[in-house]
Amino acid sequence: MLKGKTALVTGSTSGIGLGMARQLAAQGANIILNGFGDSEGPKAEVLQVGSAHGIRVGYHGADMSKPAEIEAMVAYANAEFGGVDILVNNAGIQHVANVENFPVEKWDAVIAINLSSAFHTTRLVVPGMRAKNWGRIINLASAHGLVASAGKSAYVAAKHGLVGLTKAVALETATTGVTCNAICPGWVLTPLVQKQIDDRAAKGGITVEEAQKDLLGEKQPSLQFVTPAQLGDLAVFLCSPSADNVRGVAWNMDGGWVAQ
Ligand code: NAD
Repeated sequence: MLKGKTALVTGSTSGIGLGMARQLAAQGANIILNGFGDSEGPKAEVLQVGSAHGIRVGYHGADMSKPAEIEAMVAYANAEFGGVDILVNNAGIQHVANVENFPVEKWDAVIAINLSSAFHTTRLVVPGMRAKNWGRIINLASAHGLVASAGKSAYVAAKHGLVGLTKAVALETATTGVTCNAICPGWVLTPLVQKQIDDRAAKGGITVEEAQKDLLGEKQPSLQFVTPAQLGDLAVFLCSPSADNVRGVAWNMDGGWVAQ
């Protein structure tokens, strides 16, 4: 379905981003990976998933907190892949502290990586999408783009901001073949969440398994983690012709989190 398209997935060396990349590759899209840590393992994994379609997989190590590096990444996508057809703004970090103790540099980093990076990638890829009259922008927001939790002021502000950015871009492109939507996951068991489970276990003097149960029980009525593959399948739907008129939504996949 996506043969001939190129997807740039930020923060895709791990977790949800890697899941997105895998599902898009399975539909035949070329993939440009981004993120820190090992890139060779994820590259081989995604290439394997898309092998039946003969896809190409590239990698750019831009730090998403740095606009000049984001510009270099989009220039790489234009030069090596002929542009970006599907942009998945996924890179994100978390920091937990009450607002009066929130380190200023952590606030700036969360806003830069979780919100401003999506502004930069979007402003840089929209002209090419408009020229082709086709494009998909998918922003990985969160249940925290719709509701708040204590201790997460920067993350909640960034994710609510990302939902706002999604709506504005969807309106600006509404008469074109470019759509912009947000996906709002509940808990997904990735390194970002494992750290919060480990902190909870250490603070409460409980086992990691107990901490995991507590975490789910507090917010996620299904008591099950959402998976990167499920989120990837939602992204594939948003890339399909059936989703041509899905515009500016913040689509939660959260085991019932925001239904409460
Ligand atoms: P993760 O920690 O597993 O992966 C984050 C990815 O972003 C990694 O590839 C990492 O290298 C990359 N990254 C971090 N900082 C970067 C930077 N400055 N520049 C480039 N890449 C950077 O996290 P995840 O849980 O897969 O989260 C992915 C996205 O989904 C985030 O935006 C997160 O807020 C969102 N999300 C996660 C959950 C969850 O429960 N895990 C829930 C809702 C939303």
